[in-house]
Amino acid sequence: MTSDKVVACIIGTRPEAIKMAPVISAMKESSAFRCVVVTTGQHRELLNQMLEKLDIQPDHHLDLMTEGQGLSDLFARMLPGLETVFAKERVDVVLAQGDTATTFCAALAAFHQKIPFGHIEAGLRTNDLLNPFPEEGYRQMVSRISRWNFAPTKSAADNLISEGVAPDRIHVTGNTGIDSLLKYAGKSPAKSLSGKRMILLTAHRRENFGEPIKAIFRAVKRVVERFDDVEVIYPVHPNPNVRELAKEMLGNHPRISLLAPLDYFQFIGAMKESTLILTDSGGIQEEAPALGKPVLVMRETTERPEAVQGGHALLVGMAESSIFYATENLLTNHKLLSAMSRSGFPFGDGNASGRILGVLLD
Ligand code: UDP
Repeated sequence: MTSDKVVACIIGTRPEAIKMAPVISAMKESSAFRCVVVTTGQHRELLNQMLEKLDIQPDHHLDLMTEGQGLSDLFARMLPGLETVFAKERVDVVLAQGDTATTFCAALAAFHQKIPFGHIEAGLRTNDLLNPFPEEGYRQMVSRISRWNFAPTKSAADNLISEGVAPDRIHVTGNTGIDSLLKYAGKSPAKSLSGKRMILLTAHRRENFGEPIKAIFRAVKRVVERFDDVEVIYPVHPNPNVRELAKEMLGNHPRISLLAPLDYFQFIGAMKESTLILTDSGGIQEEAPALGKPVLVMRETTERPEAVQGGHALLVGMAESSIFYATENLLTNHKLLSAMSRSGFPFGDGNASGRILGVLLD
């Protein structure tokens, strides 16, 4: 690739900013590319907080989200918005990460313009189109139209091979989220708050809204009532479906702190400080093993089996009793807790962005 190649990096959500940041910064340091950063504003509030912290200055803010907008309406605005930027900047390559509406629109808009698309974090699968929804469908469709599938692990690459993706379109690179984590972990100190054992909780997935999230909250309350040396820190996602319920069900307990979303550095500090992490998030399943923190994954299935296979995580489902008993077991079984607190790197060694750039340069 010659030095005048223009690469558009598209970002719409908090995890995309975290995982694209090392790619953008490697590209800005390289004279081989001109990197154009485009944000769609899919998660405006969380995204802006992250961009500032990670020192990413977007070249184009599409700011497409409106109140109560459905996914089809979002697509109807995002596709032409992206195509206009691609034409204006004479983009040669488009890169996006993950499995959101932003990722799929970036891939589709690039496909419509016959611009090669590189998918970062390709090949994650649950093979259940409704779980996670709509992400599983988006990531499966993106793999069909990507020129480069940057798979974080060998098992993600194997998923792509088994779907018939040509091997010369697949590159195992590691996850760029680990690049970011290792870059910032040393700069994000763990601050001991109270001397109690701390459980870090995150819960926000769309498929968990309603009864499943209520079951999670009931389980958490049972845990703090069972152990008086345990406190829970919960940075609550701004989605009103989650925020109101969290306030109602967990708001009045002295050892449960409901916080606004933490910036990335504060969140890494909280992970380091925790005894264990309860989460339904994807990215946190990748980060926790690298920090040596046991994770209980409150989902029925995961597209990141490597953490479970490596003994860093347990899939505990979404029922109140299974979440409660798994947490109780971990807090009382010191052997298990210490075995799960070994650090490990099943998702990458921190050099994924360099490998991605290497493939593009080739
Ligand atoms: N994160 C953060 N602040 C928070 C909660 C999470 O910076 O209060 C980071 C976390 O370290 C991880 C990412 O956000 O890198 C995960 O985002 P999220 O759970 O929203 O998305 P998912 O990974 O499930 O797609």
